[in-house]
Amino acid sequence: MARPSSRIDCIEYCAPAPEQSISIATDIMERMGERRQRRGRRTREMAAIASERMAILMQLAAESARTGDTELADRYGGLARALGMRYNIRLPPGMRGRLCRSCGAYLVPGRNMRVRLRPGRTVRTCLKCGKTRRRLTRRASPPLSRPS
Ligand SMILES: [Zn+2]
Repeated sequence: MARPSSRIDCIEYCAPAPEQSISIATDIMERMGERRQRRGRRTREMAAIASERMAILMQLAAESARTGDTELADRYGGLARALGMRYNIRLPPGMRGRLCRSCGAYLVPGRNMRVRLRPGRTVRTCLKCGKTRRRLTRRASPPLSRPS
């Protein structure tokens, strides 16, 4: 049978003894009410609101990091990330490298992140958990040989 869509469908759906079925039906209706939150793909408006809030949270994280409240910065960063995961949205481009992939720390180069340039790559180490991220960088082109 199709899923109940109205209260009456629902009562029929659960059929047994009349009184019992009504209480079962109201139980189900209540549970459906609780579960009204959307599942699956998000609407465009939801995504827009989420990315706006993520940007705000990352701004707050930056601000807290600037004033030295590392814990708060990590918390804001974590919230931004959680939002992104719920709504399937990536962090805004400039912010992507700001959170440690492993421990979620809000990374500030020179403070809790080490940046080292190696031939052909940049290595960034989170000083909280020690996780490194390597990023390929373009090699400098070899010097032009002088025509002889
Ligand atoms: Zn880390």
